[in-house]
Amino acid sequence: MAGNWKMFKTPAETQSFFEKFRPLVEKSEHCEIVICPPFTNLAAAVGAVRGSNIRVGAQNIAWAKEGAFTGEISGPMLNAVGATHAIIGHSERRQYFGETDETVLKRTQAALEFGLTPIVCVGELLAERESGKTEAVLTAQFQKGIAGLTEQQFAKIIIAYEPVWAIGTGKTATPEIAADAHKVIRAQVRQKFGADAAGAVRILYGGSVKPDNVKSLMAQPDIDGSLVGGASLEAASFASIVNF
Ligand code: PEP
Repeated sequence: MAGNWKMFKTPAETQSFFEKFRPLVEKSEHCEIVICPPFTNLAAAVGAVRGSNIRVGAQNIAWAKEGAFTGEISGPMLNAVGATHAIIGHSERRQYFGETDETVLKRTQAALEFGLTPIVCVGELLAERESGKTEAVLTAQFQKGIAGLTEQQFAKIIIAYEPVWAIGTGKTATPEIAADAHKVIRAQVRQKFGADAAGAVRILYGGSVKPDNVKSLMAQPDIDGSLVGGASLEAASFASIVNF
């Protein structure tokens, strides 16, 4: 269960979130729990979760180790601050910051090189779904991005299916719509990396997951977890998602 805080919270607000959140999930052993705050809160978050079952991830990662890349943060920098995961290819990065399947692949390879677990996002726009292109879009994103990994690299990633029309809109995909998309992605994995990889890979659903809809989504066998934006900002709400 991963929380994506997007561009919300200061270090002091991060501290106070974890004071409330930690006790609510300290007995939650059924899943991994990851919070991805803005870069400026990573140190505060890592300090606040020390000794707990909560991990901290970044919302992006540079494809280079260091260099003239203004505004980017590299794998070694994330290692040094204690992050363990990185969201890559979030639809907001694809839509507003020019992220492409090619750069998603490069960032994923960099995360793996530096021992971080990539949470690689794919998902279709509303117009693509309405024109019957969902499967084609997911397939293309997979083929141009994730399929460029080796089998060994692929074994270490987490995929997030995030239909863009469901992110931050309050319009959750029905469990059936989400499960169908997860099946498409898993079929791509099977074709490229084999049946064992398809069985083992964790595919998260993201898009307006809330305490009152998480159970029906998680009841779908192909949905292995959630990537949660808005509802991860408040400790009680994200804890009830984690403890669905
Ligand atoms: C997200 O940011 O990845 C997300 C799914 O947001 P929300 O839960 O707010 O739709």
